[in-house]
Amino acid sequence: METVQKKGVRLSRQRETILAELCKVKTHPTADEVYDMVRRIMPRISLGTVYRNLDFLSSRGIVLRIGGAGTQKRFDGNPMPHPHLRCSICGRVDDLEYPIALPEIPVEQSMGYQELRCDVEFVGICPMCAGNKM
Ligand SMILES: [Zn+2]
Ligand SMILES: [Zn+2]
Repeated sequence: METVQKKGVRLSRQRETILAELCKVKTHPTADEVYDMVRRIMPRISLGTVYRNLDFLSSRGIVLRIGGAGTQKRFDGNPMPHPHLRCSICGRVDDLEYPIALPEIPVEQSMGYQELRCDVEFVGICPMCAGNKM
């Protein structure tokens, strides 16, 4: 919540609920999964509203959007840059709890971009998928 106020963004009750639910889990849920969580509290909310609010929150750096082209987007209530592990088979995403230095570039090389962050993602096969392969 502190981050939200610092950025001076006013949050609607829907947005607040979506953010609160997302911050409760460490599973990096998809928009559909966030929808299922929020629906328990706001039964009349639509999937489209959840999608739009997640886009809003991630575009403003309040939550993190994970996953590039070709992968299902997942969301992280922790907006601070941190490395992830992603399974190439089931798409599961975990936080990497091992501290690694994230790459940085000098300001003069940033082409005028502000608030740059670096998404580091290690891709592999999770234990569950590795077990199922046998
Ligand atoms: Zn997997
Ligand atoms: Zn994470």
